[in-house]
Amino acid sequence: MTLPALFLSHGSPMTAIEPSDAHDFLSRFGAGFARPRAILAVSAHWETDAPMVSAARKHETIHDFYGFPPELYAIQYPAPGAPDLAARTKALLDGAGIPCGVDPDRGLDHGAWTPLYLAYPDADIPVTQLSVQPRAGTTHHLAVGRALRPLRDEGVLIMATGSVTHNLGDFGRFPPDGPPADYVRDFTEWLAAALDGRRDDDLLAYRERAPGARRAHPTEEHFLPLFVALGAGGDGAPVRRLHSSYHYAMLAMDGYAFA
Ligand code: ZN
Repeated sequence: MTLPALFLSHGSPMTAIEPSDAHDFLSRFGAGFARPRAILAVSAHWETDAPMVSAARKHETIHDFYGFPPELYAIQYPAPGAPDLAARTKALLDGAGIPCGVDPDRGLDHGAWTPLYLAYPDADIPVTQLSVQPRAGTTHHLAVGRALRPLRDEGVLIMATGSVTHNLGDFGRFPPDGPPADYVRDFTEWLAAALDGRRDDDLLAYRERAPGARRAHPTEEHFLPLFVALGAGGDGAPVRRLHSSYHYAMLAMDGYAFA
């Protein structure tokens, strides 16, 4: 059983409880492939200088956001940890010349648990998290994904989670129910075309080549998980756009499968 590698936009924490097209998509993204044996979540919300993987046996649900309704803080996602997958992940990365550290007890942040809570509400699939390196760039994250490619043949779902656009300084600047901001739409459609054509050189140089890139991503941490999924998908592998919608006219909520 070979599973795809995914890139999912997790959006605002409200995505977990508020009706939207993205909420519906995240509730059913797992329906298109077999049930994973375990899940490796690569979340924008765990930032480290070198890759770190969690070996926790039981996960704390991290509510890493402020000023949201109590209902969100009440969500727990008590999935079992996956120390075996953590060890395998470390071995693959170390073997590829990308030294990976192990955190004995890091829990799940909302980048990881939002899509999991919606798609696998029973919280019965072992899961662990791998961090992103916000200063290491696109090529590094592509290499991380390439190194992890064998996991897909071992029943592991590689679920990279971030956002196709992510400029929180633009929150409230556009009518929330109106069309997406021009730069958001331009960046999102450039990405879709570049992925469809597997223009990997353009993707890796997106900050120079994509319209609106620096406004779409003032910092890179929400976009870099996409390169892990791209690398794990395999060189030249087809890319499927699973979903497209916008939140607040400034967050593109697209999801992609690489396989
Ligand atoms: Zn986020």
